[in-house]
Amino acid sequence: MHAGAPSLRFYPEYMPAFEHEPTRDRFHIGFEGDSFGEGVRSLVPFAPGDVVFACTGFFSSHVTQYTLQVGDGLHLHDPFFYGKILHSCVPNTVADVATRRFTAVKPIEPGHFVTMDYAQTEDYLFRTFPCACGARNCRRNVVGRKQLAPPEPVAAPSNIVPLTELVTAPMGLFEVLNDANRKRILSLLLDSDLRLQDVMALSGLGYSAVSKQLRILRQMGLVSQYKLGRQVFYAQDDERMRAMLEAGREHVNGWLGRVGVAKVRAGG
Ligand SMILES: [Zn+2]
Repeated sequence: MHAGAPSLRFYPEYMPAFEHEPTRDRFHIGFEGDSFGEGVRSLVPFAPGDVVFACTGFFSSHVTQYTLQVGDGLHLHDPFFYGKILHSCVPNTVADVATRRFTAVKPIEPGHFVTMDYAQTEDYLFRTFPCACGARNCRRNVVGRKQLAPPEPVAAPSNIVPLTELVTAPMGLFEVLNDANRKRILSLLLDSDLRLQDVMALSGLGYSAVSKQLRILRQMGLVSQYKLGRQVFYAQDDERMRAMLEAGREHVNGWLGRVGVAKVRAGG
């Protein structure tokens, strides 16, 4: 760019240009009201899989309002662009902290906010605050992944446990949901598409537990996977899940009836 031309850069001129650097012809940073503060809107469309932007900044051991956690105790302070990206519990980008690239996971239209899930990358936030993302599955509070509420303990079912012992059947919808780990993973995937390591971080479960449950959920057709670059994301379709929960309830009622019959037969 020749001297005198208005800069399209958000970053100061002393910072070297880099691939996928966001520029003013593609993004707008504005004040979006008290509940949001500053936010980034896209001026151009992006399709799922597109790299939306990459960021740069200053490495620090400290968390600020503008840092991206790129490692254990390592944060990238970027008050110029990344630090203005708003949180959503159902974001339209996911971060790859190794490359510091943000990839679209759903279509982004001109005028849309560019959003990310802070709990995808951050262990702890500089400050937590009520979420204003408006998503149906909003977590209500914007927190880091280590500040997420632990999974709700599943109450011991009373008249339901013997069901699975009495009835030999391929795993039904009810059994899929009658496992605390699977339920936890499904509820995480309701919020956003995640990589296996994200599910591990958010659920606190180990690799073998997460990969086993994801495999079961995929076999059940409840979870699908897709690749973005070298990353594999797991996704769960919202509408089907709701339908499934309703179907699951009817299924259980049906089973209770059938087990009643089975008991009578066994005794007779
Ligand atoms: Zn939210």
